[in-house]
Amino acid sequence: MNYHTEWGFATKAIHAGVEPDPTTGAIMTPVYQTSTYVQEYPGKHKGYAYARGKNPTRDALQKNIAALENGKYCLCFSSGMGAIDAVIKLLKNGDEVITGNDLYGGTYRMFTKIFEPLGIKFHFIDLSNSSNIEQYINKNTKLIWIETPTNPTMQIIDITECSQIAKKHHLLLAVDNTFASPYLQNPLNLGADIVMHSVTKYLGGHSDVVMGALVMNDDILYERLAFIHNSCGATPGPMDSFLVLRGIKTLHLRMERHCYNGKKIAEFLSQHPKVEKVYWPGLPTHPNHSIAKKQMKDFGGMVSFTLKNASLEKTFAFASSFKVFSLAESLGGVESLINHPATMTHASIPKEEREKAGVTDNLLRLSVGIEDINDLIKDLEQAFDKVN
Ligand SMILES: *Cc1c(COP(=O)(O)O)cnc(C)c1O
Repeated sequence: MNYHTEWGFATKAIHAGVEPDPTTGAIMTPVYQTSTYVQEYPGKHKGYAYARGKNPTRDALQKNIAALENGKYCLCFSSGMGAIDAVIKLLKNGDEVITGNDLYGGTYRMFTKIFEPLGIKFHFIDLSNSSNIEQYINKNTKLIWIETPTNPTMQIIDITECSQIAKKHHLLLAVDNTFASPYLQNPLNLGADIVMHSVTKYLGGHSDVVMGALVMNDDILYERLAFIHNSCGATPGPMDSFLVLRGIKTLHLRMERHCYNGKKIAEFLSQHPKVEKVYWPGLPTHPNHSIAKKQMKDFGGMVSFTLKNASLEKTFAFASSFKVFSLAESLGGVESLINHPATMTHASIPKEEREKAGVTDNLLRLSVGIEDINDLIKDLEQAFDKVN
């Protein structure tokens, strides 16, 4: 059963999966801070035996996120990486994966440093032209793993086209939907088999929790992933589940403002003489703007740009001179952040690989928050005034 398919997004964000507490009627799901549950006699319990496997606070959150992605099942993990790890554990030695050459740094590191030595082969290719994919498919190929928009250069990958290729060759398609959030894009509706989120980002939304999630429709796929989830044990605690349930209640409002502020900033940067290039999928000049328009509801609050003629030192000086934006890794919180991908989020990618993907030393990435837009623009202006 899909949860609450008749509801609109905002209603689902607030209500899906959240039932009044059966013992007290509490409107908000309590933090079930317990590791185990009492059994009447061996095996007779109320559906809960041990909290790695199941916890009521986490259950409510999983139902909620499943509803937001129009999925049947959700599994929450103690981090986004924990969620990705579980997906790759569906594979075995000799299997192959086709993925993008512009991945989240931690994903690239896990694929190359953890799973390649275990015998899984990854093809890191340019997915912006999906006709590239088929030439890498062989009898060992099992999975296509995509991120869209990509991080940090905001390429848009056509999810529908990828899913058509995946279906034709009986491959799984998994989409890291962290940058878009379920508010902007629902990959399952476009034919993906698995949606992954770093819940740490927009879903949590307040920079106070690290968590991951997988959403899927297929019963057998769910059983396999739930088995890995419980067996390998990267499951989140009840307090974090509670915080994310609370965060999600305003996801739609936050995303509206992220998109509005993101647009204003992308437009401001596009006009600025000290800016070389702006990466934001909502700009008509963005190379994948038409795909973005087709598969996303709006264009989000992640904006990257390069500084004109800027050395590493000059880029560092610029990135360190903000008053409202904070220099930090991560994204998707209510507060605005600036990040230097080459030395921060993407430092684990070799320089040559990194530069091929456009992650040059003069590239900066903004996670545009939901503060007053005038203050954000003023902050950018004063930072530009400091660099010549
Ligand atoms: C942050 C992030 C991850 C990893 O998630 P964690 O919660 O940090 O483990 C994966 N993919 C993308 C796109 C991310 O931004």
